[in-house]
Amino acid sequence: MNDALLDQVSRTVDRQRLLETAIALIGVPSPTRSAGAAANRLEDILTADGFSVERHAADWPEAPIVLAVLDSGRPGPTLQFDGHLDTVHLPFVPPRVEDDTLYGSSSADMKGGIAAALEALRVLRTLDALPAGRVLFTAHDHHEGPWGDGRQVRAMIREGLVGDGVMLPEYLATPLPVAGRGLAIFQATIRRDGEPVHEVLRPPGTPDVVAAGAQLVNRLHTWNEELKGNSHPLVGHDSTFVGNLKAGEIYNQSPTECFVQGTRRWVPPASSTTVQDEFSQVLAETAAATGTEIDVEFAVQGGAYQIESESRLVHAFQQAHTALTGSSLPLGAKPFVDDGNIYASEAGIPALTHGPAATGAHTLHEAAPIEELVRVAKVYALTAVAFCGEA
Ligand SMILES: [Zn+2]
Repeated sequence: MNDALLDQVSRTVDRQRLLETAIALIGVPSPTRSAGAAANRLEDILTADGFSVERHAADWPEAPIVLAVLDSGRPGPTLQFDGHLDTVHLPFVPPRVEDDTLYGSSSADMKGGIAAALEALRVLRTLDALPAGRVLFTAHDHHEGPWGDGRQVRAMIREGLVGDGVMLPEYLATPLPVAGRGLAIFQATIRRDGEPVHEVLRPPGTPDVVAAGAQLVNRLHTWNEELKGNSHPLVGHDSTFVGNLKAGEIYNQSPTECFVQGTRRWVPPASSTTVQDEFSQVLAETAAATGTEIDVEFAVQGGAYQIESESRLVHAFQQAHTALTGSSLPLGAKPFVDDGNIYASEAGIPALTHGPAATGAHTLHEAAPIEELVRVAKVYALTAVAFCGEA
């Protein structure tokens, strides 16, 4: 990567323009499933910049995804910049700048990053810097669980609105995550036939859903110890965890339902389907042993994945990072689950999460240093040049 390009990119990234974009996006509250107005704001910004914008319902007509393309006009690969416009359901904190830091809802997770990726798109266009191929810029709703279910990313995959590699500007600046665990949130509902009844009036043989719940919790606890044996050098090991157990109204009434909620996490290369089948099997055994029925909702937030460290995307990113900072990023694991898990595990599209060293995601105190947003804009622009230009 030549120094002249680095110099041009550095001079063309416009800190003020980037900041104004971030503030404009943060200023529109967009809790998950209600990101329509923020998507409209993003469309307006892109349109004012002269990009032609497509909107696709992508399985959530309330907030059609926003899509813009920067095409070099020459055949080559497509790099996608993708972000979620929705936020966790917490009270809205308006945007504010103080001490060179951007505050407000989603400044870290992840409208700050989206604004940085958009700035990269502008810079690439101004400099006509894409040697070949194209950059696909997308933004959508339905990311944050448990309110969202990833449906828009899955629809984008089904409809082919994706690149050959994806960059996600979430709040993770280091390491470069080339692997991640899968995550499912489960809710098991244990039931017996009949009505709630006074304990002394129970017909003989009435199944005890509370005891079944306790048995299930114990079983999962023991299983968790066994799962530690399934390990991966980067991401750690498998686990299952119960965080919520609920049953009964009063001390001497036999209830008909018991709820057990928790998580199941797993390492690559296990598939979500295999993990889910195994989980259902454990629940079926508990149901049979306790004379109850157990239904389970097993909501896969994202599968486990690993990206080849020699892949075009990793190589392009490291070239860009080295040009900008003098060194490559250490490779590591992604501590959380994001849309990159869906791209990589369900569609086989290499996906790298890299964004500002921002803090406070999922709290009322989100903060993104502006210099970090500027850095991300540069590294995204340079990554696109390397990815789209490599033979
Ligand atoms: Zn996020």
